Amino acid sequence: MQHHDNFYINGQWQAPTGSERMDVINPATGELCASVPRAGEQDVEAAIMAARQALPAWSMTSAQERHDLMMAAADEMQRRFQELCDVQVMTMGCPVQLVGAMHVEGPIEGMRYYAERAFRMEEDERKGDVTLMREPIGVCSLINPWNYPLHQLIGKLAPALAAGCTVIAKPAEQTPLQDFIMAEIFEKVGLPAGVFNVVTGEGSEIGPVMSGHPQVDMVSFTGSTAAGSKVAESAAPTIKRVCQELGGKSPLLVTEDADMAAAVRMGVENIMANTGQTCDAFTRLLVPRSRIEEATRLAVEIAGEQVVGDPTDPATTMGPLVSQLQRERVLHLVQRAIDDGVELALGGVEAPEGLDKGCYVRPTIFTNVSNEQEIAREEIFGPVLCILPYDTLEQGIAIANDSVYGLSSAVYARDAEAALPIARCMQAGQCYMQGAEFSFDAPFGGYKRSGNGREWGDEGLAEYVEVKALLGAPALS
Ligand code: NAD
Repeated sequence: MQHHDNFYINGQWQAPTGSERMDVINPATGELCASVPRAGEQDVEAAIMAARQALPAWSMTSAQERHDLMMAAADEMQRRFQELCDVQVMTMGCPVQLVGAMHVEGPIEGMRYYAERAFRMEEDERKGDVTLMREPIGVCSLINPWNYPLHQLIGKLAPALAAGCTVIAKPAEQTPLQDFIMAEIFEKVGLPAGVFNVVTGEGSEIGPVMSGHPQVDMVSFTGSTAAGSKVAESAAPTIKRVCQELGGKSPLLVTEDADMAAAVRMGVENIMANTGQTCDAFTRLLVPRSRIEEATRLAVEIAGEQVVGDPTDPATTMGPLVSQLQRERVLHLVQRAIDDGVELALGGVEAPEGLDKGCYVRPTIFTNVSNEQEIAREEIFGPVLCILPYDTLEQGIAIANDSVYGLSSAVYARDAEAALPIARCMQAGQCYMQGAEFSFDAPFGGYKRSGNGREWGDEGLAEYVEVKALLGAPALS
């Protein structure tokens, strides 16, 4: 059981102005695992003012200084690797077998990735007679969800620090603990006071302050489309930059001549990872009608390999969902699909055997789904796969793109050459061909209602940068 009394504001552990607290529940046991303070408006205001005061000096540091501090933080994250893993197991139920690779190694690499990119800030560019220089955008509010708590924090924080911005971070109510560890890490490596501030609280209460405050220059938000839209509304009157990573309903299109077994394995493992709580998961598997029975049989077999259970058991590959609320949301959508007559190939609404306590659900597969059905249109955020048939490739592409979302997509064809023209047609920020792996060089972000802006890659740094044009400046030496 962890108990945190203070926020990290202006380089100090500051007591909250109020006395309200928030419980953090272990989703595997339903037991209380941590208690953190619940910030009010004044706490957030103090964090914003600390970030504002720290900005002039931090924004003028050299890229080398920022690089060195970020590298030191990455080393310290490495040293505290196990603790960073433990809090993900405890608060979101990630299995011990997977947690390091899924939730901690990447963020450490991401911190180093952007430490190296700090030098881009000093690379002026010449375009004709004009010199372009880069400056940090300023004070940034970072609002994060619970599904990849450290990855999403670092995906915002690392480029912000590399650019020379100062930040106020707010983790999700369900998963606040890694933000406290990161504050301790920055305190230890000597990050100047006020550059990184952490508050914990209810998004509906303090989110509007973080996104509306006149002393905040930018808001970076990951979470639901509904909350993302509220953030944009609060940010509009002061014309802030808003970067939104929102929902998805991403397709994996498999062609007639593809290796079906490899494609289905990739698709099923992708959707079952993190108990389906991945915004860019390939939740719609599109296969030629002639191969839907084969694809369904394979998908059921592969999903059956999942070991659902206690995340602290080394044999477990799928832990619980993050909360009872999330479990209710997922099961509600699954039940509605069953009631609507959608063909259930695996799983359903009953708790997995022997797991009636905790937020567990069964790996679930619907097949012969029409893209018009709710289960194919709504983001479920659980281990639920829909298999949809298509008749011609053109129709397959049209179904893939027929969504209000456009976060990610995937294509499995005969080979990469054959996949490429299809990938070019996908209306999404990313397209994975032939089971390609995640890359930090691939900017991540959505088309349509999946959001605005990009994380990772050079584009992820650009979100935190203002470009200034100097006209009449002497040529670069
Ligand atoms: P949410 O959007 O409510 O919460 C995400 C973050 O936003 C949290 O830190 C929360 O405190 C904050 N927040 C909530 N209301 C806010 C407001 N008005 N202003 C500013 N910040 C606010 O997500 P949730 O309720 O935890 O999950 C609901 C659904 O969202 C899920 O079922 C899933 O579909 C989706 N989701 C998507 C992602 C993603 O990565 N795209 C992540 C988590 C959840």
